Amino acid sequence: MSKIIATAAIRGAHRIVGECEKLLGRTITEKGKEAKIEFPETAYFLPMIYALLGEEVKQVGDMPPILDYTKGLLHEVPSDSVWLPYLGPTLDAGVATLFAEEMIVALRYLHGTEPQQDCNGFFTDTIMRTLGIQLVDGRMPGFAAILGAAPDSKTAVKIVRELQKRSILIFAGSSVNGTSIIDQLKAEGVQMGWEPYVVPYGRDTVSAIYPLDWAIRSALTFGGLKRGQAKECLLYCKERVFAFGLALGEVDDLKYATGAGAINMGFPVIADTEIPEIRPTGICTYEHVVHELDHDKIVPYSIQVRGVKVKVQEIDVPVPYSPAFEGEVVRRESMHVQMGQKYSKAVEYLRMRELDEVEDGKIELIGPDIDSVQPGEAMPLAIQVDVAGRRMQKDFEPILERRIHPYINMAMGVSHAGQRNIVWIRVSTETFQKGFRLAHFGTILHHQLHEEYGKIVDKAAVRIFTREPDVEKVLAEATRAFHERDARVEGMTDESVDDFYSCTLCQSFAPNHVCVISPERLGLCGAYNWLDGKASFEINPRGPNQPVKKGECLDPVKGIFKGVNEAVRLYSHGHLEQFTIYSLMDTPMTSCGCFECIMAILPETNGVMIVNREYPDMTPCGMKFTTLAGAVGGGQQTPGFLGIGRLYVTSRKFILAEGGMKRIVWMPKMLKDDVRTRFQKRAADEGMPDLLDRIADESVGSSVEEIMPFLQKAGHPALTLPPLL
Ligand code: SF4
Ligand code: ZN
Repeated sequence: MSKIIATAAIRGAHRIVGECEKLLGRTITEKGKEAKIEFPETAYFLPMIYALLGEEVKQVGDMPPILDYTKGLLHEVPSDSVWLPYLGPTLDAGVATLFAEEMIVALRYLHGTEPQQDCNGFFTDTIMRTLGIQLVDGRMPGFAAILGAAPDSKTAVKIVRELQKRSILIFAGSSVNGTSIIDQLKAEGVQMGWEPYVVPYGRDTVSAIYPLDWAIRSALTFGGLKRGQAKECLLYCKERVFAFGLALGEVDDLKYATGAGAINMGFPVIADTEIPEIRPTGICTYEHVVHELDHDKIVPYSIQVRGVKVKVQEIDVPVPYSPAFEGEVVRRESMHVQMGQKYSKAVEYLRMRELDEVEDGKIELIGPDIDSVQPGEAMPLAIQVDVAGRRMQKDFEPILERRIHPYINMAMGVSHAGQRNIVWIRVSTETFQKGFRLAHFGTILHHQLHEEYGKIVDKAAVRIFTREPDVEKVLAEATRAFHERDARVEGMTDESVDDFYSCTLCQSFAPNHVCVISPERLGLCGAYNWLDGKASFEINPRGPNQPVKKGECLDPVKGIFKGVNEAVRLYSHGHLEQFTIYSLMDTPMTSCGCFECIMAILPETNGVMIVNREYPDMTPCGMKFTTLAGAVGGGQQTPGFLGIGRLYVTSRKFILAEGGMKRIVWMPKMLKDDVRTRFQKRAADEGMPDLLDRIADESVGSSVEEIMPFLQKAGHPALTLPPLL
């Protein structure tokens, strides 16, 4: 343990706690103790304080006792002659720093000075959940919080690109001598935001609390931990959240203090300056504070220190390739060519062939390439992928075909939207100039299909057509196949199969959660349906999706199956005895935290409401999505509340036990629009074709009192169904 670090961290903590005290005093004078304290869209109040101390800070007046406690964590600044043999006082200083920083930014929100210009500020619960699923499925192996600034903006870009290449989510901020990495990246035109994996949090070190706040919340949301379980929450972060700090430039007292806070959570700090290192093990998985002066090596070194498992994609294309580029937008001004949408005919189609019909790795371009068009023009395109394999099945065609979207999107400067005959692809000028051509689509698809689906894909070949008549021909064949596929999946019922599939992918975050996926009920994240489960099992027989023998059906209406219960007991590690597949009220399925929608009973209406993750406002149950989500997640069984995938809303098995879709009394308009076509078809089958119009939305009201008269006037069926409670 280095005394220099201890001294600096404790000194920094004293300073920041002092600043917090000053700001708090001023706020009490200016705004009063009753002034409301609130971060945007979270159910966790001030998350660090809530998780570690169990306290709900709701107004300014709640802060003074917390500040007193925080001060109690501060030790004397050790004099230079004192040798501190252990980390204790430094770690305490770190926790005090986190509390002080969190209170400061919360007070700044009250004063209207957060979020800072062009910065994200506090990360909402919605974002935390969306990222959760990417974490568990490995799309994002870890997170880096950058503090400070690189020696120059080119180096800043280099570091960020190295992290992006490895799909590591980057939180960028703080500064050194008035320069922030945020402005360095801006100067170089680097796209920032959640999609490109570079999120600017704020230009000072205090705002580095935002990424840490996000990490600690995952312990509560996904880990099923309760507020006040400080030790467990910190351990959870250490074991499951692969984060590290990168301190670029001089490390001042406040950065040491904040770093000491991060060390408590098991996150090491890697600096690019000659700082004293802390290398004992115990708290972090590996070293706590280390340095690497070479900017070319700092990223690989950090990954090694934190023990992040990354897979770098090495594909033979002339631009960087990684999930970090998946959400990148190619704007019209910077576009070389586009295909599809209203600009030209385009289609992509993957079909299964016999083994001897496919020559593996063969990539053909039939027609002119993208160097034949004037910049900004459109051209027709058909991408036909032929796949063969001893274990390939026709049912896997749509699953593999759906992967074309992320695969192509991951190339820098290429954007891909939609699928089938509604694709829309753009290639940027820069990417074109770097030598990217249509055949590279083939290179990417061939490589990725083998990489990800090697167990079922023995051979893959790609043909790319760019002449209108050829595109028409592929389109005709593909359209026939699409119709057939839809009929096959839509026609599947839970009765028609012997096996359902379990999914325990989210256990890396919610250790006792399991989804049971049946043909008529998809996973609550919306990303896994029965066919996906089946394919995933074929591909990886020891993976997260296992067949669940239905066994004897104990109740066809609630959906209770002997085999399902056995599986639930097994995968929940004995925490659950049973769950029903079709009931909201009786031992419903659990929720991990990444649900697309939440359903909740509204007892006064004798019905249920459904709210989707994207809807930010108040709902008739008196809670916003984020608050509701806080009550539902973490692998708990909560009758009356259920996380669901949105497609379940229009399933024939939708809460069968409670009367099905006729129970729905409220949904946000955007959700209604989203499910409209399927909903109306199903409602007609139920003998009530206009059901959707009888369901209230926010235009009617966001409280039970407001929607009740509407439901009565519309003659909503829930009012006459048997009582829910
Ligand atoms: Fe997680 Fe369930 Fe989705 Fe699997 S199906 S990824 S367990 S939410
Ligand atoms: Zn989940």
